[in-house]
Amino acid sequence: SLPLSVPIKLPNGKTYQQPTGLFINNEFVQSKSKKTFATISPSTEEEITQVYEAFEEDVDVAVEAANDAFHSSWSQGDPQIRMKVLFKLSELIEEHAETLAYIEALDNGKSLMCSKGDVALTAAYFRSCAGWTDKIKGSVIESGDTHFNYTRREPIGVCGQIIPWNFPLLMASWKLGPVLATGCTTVLKTAESTPLSALYLATLIKEAGVPAGVVNIVSGFGPSAGAAISSHPKIKKVAFTGSTATGRRIMKAAADSNLKKVTLELGGKSPNIVFDDADVKLTIQHLVTGIFYNTGEVCCAGSRIYVQEGIYDTITSEFRKAAESLKIGDPFKEDTFMGAQASQMQLDKILKYIDIGKKEGASVITGGERLGNKGYFVKPTIFGDVREDHQIVKEEIFGPVVTITKFKTVDEVIKLANNSEYGLAAGVHTTDINKAINVSNKINSGTIWVNTYNDFHPMVPFGGYSQSGIGREMGEEALDNYTQVKAVRIALTK
Ligand code: ADP
Repeated sequence: SLPLSVPIKLPNGKTYQQPTGLFINNEFVQSKSKKTFATISPSTEEEITQVYEAFEEDVDVAVEAANDAFHSSWSQGDPQIRMKVLFKLSELIEEHAETLAYIEALDNGKSLMCSKGDVALTAAYFRSCAGWTDKIKGSVIESGDTHFNYTRREPIGVCGQIIPWNFPLLMASWKLGPVLATGCTTVLKTAESTPLSALYLATLIKEAGVPAGVVNIVSGFGPSAGAAISSHPKIKKVAFTGSTATGRRIMKAAADSNLKKVTLELGGKSPNIVFDDADVKLTIQHLVTGIFYNTGEVCCAGSRIYVQEGIYDTITSEFRKAAESLKIGDPFKEDTFMGAQASQMQLDKILKYIDIGKKEGASVITGGERLGNKGYFVKPTIFGDVREDHQIVKEEIFGPVVTITKFKTVDEVIKLANNSEYGLAAGVHTTDINKAINVSNKINSGTIWVNTYNDFHPMVPFGGYSQSGIGREMGEEALDNYTQVKAVRIALTK
């Protein structure tokens, strides 16, 4: 049977040990069925390794471990213990940054340039969570001298967390950070196409001193292991990042099983708006980052560009030039901006949408096809002459495909921007602070980036309006999803 750890040679010449088992109770173990599945390198289409596959019976074991761990001093004891562990974890991630970045680029196909950024953000987020551990507070409520009232913020308990394949390591940190900060415990399932970096992270979690059972990480598929998590009777809260369709399924399963609390970070079709007075050079950078960073596999990608008429021609031609000069290809070359799409399925979906766009009558300003025939590479693609009812304007493509539309007035573009079932993010590019704030106030989305894009900070909350999600990750808001308020009201005797 498959060893629980296999040597993998990275393109930098270094060989590391990759765990392949399920991480339960601080040990890597085989799944009960001993079944394994392959993970593929999207840039070469070759198998990297097999990993053990979790099913419902394995999720049960992991939940028992998490449940035992929750009823230990971890949850109720001195928060400084959790602080120490989180600080140590962020340090270990920095020590292992190169290996983690290479694993991520290998398994997801993204460029090293992107994966290095992911690792840095991951370490920063765990460090930020370390600081929260002893700052979780309740309050005293005055209601006259007949009673004494106070509230506490208590950890919710065993959590289930399901993450996607576009930022495997970073999404694991957004999930595990608040669990560790608040004293919860968890069973986290990675996406089936990108299991490797989280298993490597598990070795660091153990080394950092996280007690056994607090963090359990399983590799597996959505309909089996994922569904077992969302419907598990002992899981008190499920956190999910992924597609809106799957989010809906998870929320239903949560309601039907035990009404576990649900937070969802879902899809988007985010508008990126350029006004006549914008700084052209800077704006082009942010349009590029908005849609081509991480090969467009970003839930908050700025996939609908709206440009005011006075600057439309300049922006369109400069943006086209910028897109055509991007380096695409081998993720491990230092200057590669765009690596491969994460999977064959994703490649097919993107190419299907490009086809739909052409059939709908939109014009291809640049790109519009696959690059090469080995590895899942797609050329940066810009569509012009689009209508609001075009599928490529309404539906999330999750790839390096963007539409560009001309507008005249502020009111018009606010209407266009808000004409979506989603509400994850938006970009506003202008040198007029009044316009920036007034437009930001009127846009229906959880994040607005002004003169920047895809710009994250551990203390700034992120999450969706409308069908883009429920709840917030990062910042103080993330802690709300992992704690519940207990109110104690005491009648006083005189
Ligand atoms: P995609 O279809 O692009 O892979 P998903 O949103 O379906 O995007 O996948 C994100 C995560 O959700 C993955 O970890 C996947 O395994 C998981 N998932 C998919 N279907 C389900 C499901 N029915 N229940 C729970 N998790 C699921």
